[in-house]
Amino acid sequence: MKKALVCGAGGFIGHHLVTHLKKEGFWVRGVDLKYNEFSKTQADDFFIADLRDPVICRNIVDQRFDEVYQLAADMGGAGYIFTGENDAAIMHNSACINLNILEACLRRNTHRIFYSSSACMYPEHNQVDCTNPNLAESSAYPANPDSEYGWEKVFSERLYLAYHRNHKMEVRIARYHNVFGPQSTWTGGKEKSPAAICRKVACAKPGETIEIWGSGQQTRSFLCIEECLEGTTRLMRSAWTGPVNIGSEEMISINNLASMLIAISGKPLSIKNIPGPVGVNGRRSDNRLIYEKLGWKPSQPLLTGIKQLYTWIEKQVEPQKELVFS
Ligand code: NAD
Repeated sequence: MKKALVCGAGGFIGHHLVTHLKKEGFWVRGVDLKYNEFSKTQADDFFIADLRDPVICRNIVDQRFDEVYQLAADMGGAGYIFTGENDAAIMHNSACINLNILEACLRRNTHRIFYSSSACMYPEHNQVDCTNPNLAESSAYPANPDSEYGWEKVFSERLYLAYHRNHKMEVRIARYHNVFGPQSTWTGGKEKSPAAICRKVACAKPGETIEIWGSGQQTRSFLCIEECLEGTTRLMRSAWTGPVNIGSEEMISINNLASMLIAISGKPLSIKNIPGPVGVNGRRSDNRLIYEKLGWKPSQPLLTGIKQLYTWIEKQVEPQKELVFS
């Protein structure tokens, strides 16, 4: 039986990845600072552990794994990444995890390792035009990300590539673009825009106004979790290192995303744009390279996945609403 290690298995993508790998017949070890908040893990064993500690990392990688997925990171949505208050923690914590896990894998002769980088590593100056951003993989340098989160991704991508060159490790690097789906953080400050807007819409009463950060004209593309996992495992098992975008090409403004969710809710709501942390003006995955190298790219329309997310968040919000209104 093949064995996989998922770092960050209590988080959104890691938790879903564990379930995906179990369905494929893997024996899976998960590791995280916490269990997933929303459902029980399917992992065969699960360590609650801090990967910033190199000794702990060596204990976690105590055998040769066929596949290691490194998804653990100190991260969150715009409200966490762009305020500046968490910069030191984001850089220190995520860099330590990557340094330790790579070295632990090298020592155990575990060579196939996937690293989850981000669209946030791309230069800010190529994402000024909200209608036509440039996020081709080749546009990454000279580097100029708009956040320390993005700079840590630049550093860690290079770290993984160095282990690939110097130690012949089978590194695979994906640059994820805004992944969303059920069982993701939807409140508390680390939630990302699709979940945050779903929550605002689900909580609002008919006739109310929801607040959206920035002008609302900023654009993004959003990838549903199933397609993220498909792209991740395809890249992992290919003969190609990357880095490559894993994201959707369907670009939408944040106000239009809010309008889409209002329509799904069926409630008459209006939108008010307020100042807030927003990041770059425009961002959309460029999928030419992944299609060329893997013969695959995500294709599910945003509407299909976002309806599922809204339904799930509505269910999370309901019990809390009863508490507030009773
Ligand atoms: P997440 O925050 O839900 O999961 C990350 C997990 O890492 C969390 O459960 C957290 O507890 C864990 N973690 C943090 N510090 C740790 C430590 N010291 N030791 C052990 N575990 C630790 O995030 P996610 O959305 O699942 O993202 C997974 C990866 O994908 C991250 O590397 C992230 O940067 C990257 N990514 C995600 C997106 C997205 O849209 N979700 C986009 C681009 C890149």
